[in-house]
Amino acid sequence: MSEHDTFLAQAHDLLGERGLTQDPELVTPWLTDWRGRFTGRALALASPASTEEVAALVRLCATHGVPIVPQGGNSGMSGGATPDESGTTLLLSLRRMNKVRRFNLAAREITCDAGYVLQTLHETAAAEGLRFPLTLGGKGSATVGGLISTNAGGSQVLRHGSMRAQVLGLEAVLADGSIFNSLEHLKKDNRGFDLKQVLIGSEGTLGIVTAATLRLVPAIAERAVLWIGLAHIRDARRLLLQAEEMAADALEAFEVLPKHSLEAVLAYSPNARAPLGHAHEWHALIELVADRAAAERLPALAQELLESAFEQGLVEDAAIAQNEAQAEAFWALREEISPAERAIGPAMQHDISVPVARMANFVAEAVPEVERAFPGTRGIAFGHLGDGNVHFHVLAPEGARRGEWEAGEGKQVSAFVHDLVTSWHGSISAEHGIGQLKRDELVRLGDPVQLAMMQRIKQALDPQGLLNPGKLMPPSPHKLAPPGATA
Ligand SMILES: Cc1cc2nc3c(=O)[nH]c(=O)nc-3n(C[C@H](O)[C@H](O)[C@H](O)COP(=O)(O)OP(=O)(O)OC[C@H]3O[C@@H](n4cnc5c(N)ncnc54)[C@H](O)[C@@H]3O)c2cc1C
Repeated sequence: MSEHDTFLAQAHDLLGERGLTQDPELVTPWLTDWRGRFTGRALALASPASTEEVAALVRLCATHGVPIVPQGGNSGMSGGATPDESGTTLLLSLRRMNKVRRFNLAAREITCDAGYVLQTLHETAAAEGLRFPLTLGGKGSATVGGLISTNAGGSQVLRHGSMRAQVLGLEAVLADGSIFNSLEHLKKDNRGFDLKQVLIGSEGTLGIVTAATLRLVPAIAERAVLWIGLAHIRDARRLLLQAEEMAADALEAFEVLPKHSLEAVLAYSPNARAPLGHAHEWHALIELVADRAAAERLPALAQELLESAFEQGLVEDAAIAQNEAQAEAFWALREEISPAERAIGPAMQHDISVPVARMANFVAEAVPEVERAFPGTRGIAFGHLGDGNVHFHVLAPEGARRGEWEAGEGKQVSAFVHDLVTSWHGSISAEHGIGQLKRDELVRLGDPVQLAMMQRIKQALDPQGLLNPGKLMPPSPHKLAPPGATA
């Protein structure tokens, strides 16, 4: 019996029929990432049903030296949940662990398993007059464990922060099988490091998240969704400052879309309509919200914001959604950008951030710079201007072949964009993580001292290197600065 056979037999004894499978029909769908960029192989798919089972399985993996790839809903954008092609790693799905453990209405806290799906979390909170203030397009698949491990963002970060800000407590299995438990939420706790923060955003490389205590907020009683036509992205920045000054407590989202994106959505989606009759050079999509106490005043607040923006000459034209259906239609224009742009042809997508105050200037300068450097390409930036985070897509020249272009010139385009972002003191990953997609770029452009710190933490918590190998972490310590080196 080989070492792998012994391991599989023991894992089967531990998890039973439902908990371990090698059936290709059950395993294969989980071996390719959501965007279809990476496909790997796995020794087996493990689906433990409890934290204790995860811990025992991780101990077994440590004994036999079997690497583990943790996986939630497999909706990640960076290939973090896809195993390599060796076929020697265990794919560890948390999807079977999908229960609410505790719902503390008075404290507005919910404790749930790592496999709890975001959309279900929204529904559970809504049924009690509360809401979980983070949402994203992959909500039907994304799990609490995946959201935590990627420190996910979305369109409400402006007001509520990213996933990190929603996590009050965490439970995780470490590489030696021990269970880290900080699920009990203490508002004040200064017993040294806040260790859960080390695990959040670590993409499964430091521990396997098994449960979390999350913060909830009161449900929205009223919302105002505004669609605004602008001449320039710098006007969007000024409008954002205006909105923050006049309506900071109500400002839930502030997104921008260029003319090209709106036109792409109008061409792609049969139901889409331009809210202002035609496309402007830029558009801002603003959502203001209020709970019951402030609901009555919200329509007037939205009106005042618009009037003031018109008076200052920031706005060319604007519309306020007259009902929920129209509000949803405005948002659909934003959410359809990715599929609509994808339908046009090959493109390189970048999820980048620069300091919020500099983002408008960055977009205004970087788009023509990229287009000059790669003739025939087209730069499109859209998304979360209020967070200093845009999705910066570069469309291939007309006639470029899908697959071929991305692997050739597309790679140079991405390196160029990442160099630009770095020179603006920004980040090559604002919300999608590093995974395997951007690992080499992180090594190329990351600060050597910070990379070395990450590697030392990894070495301390996972000395065998069994947790999600090949993802996020730089591959070789030799490439990095020695301890004590300065940047
Ligand atoms: C249409 C669409 C829109 C999206 N929009 C956004 C957006 O606006 N903002 C945004 O941030 N993301 C967005 N995403 C990406 C994705 O939904 C998030 O990255 C999400 O957090 C992934 O959750 P998941 O459960 O699917 O994780 P997976 O894809 O399964 O895994 C992601 C990473 O986390 C690790 N992991 C998963 N579960 C665990 C666990 N329990 N313990 C340890 N490690 C674990 C994996 O190993 C992998 O490295 C979008 C995705 C889609 C499909």
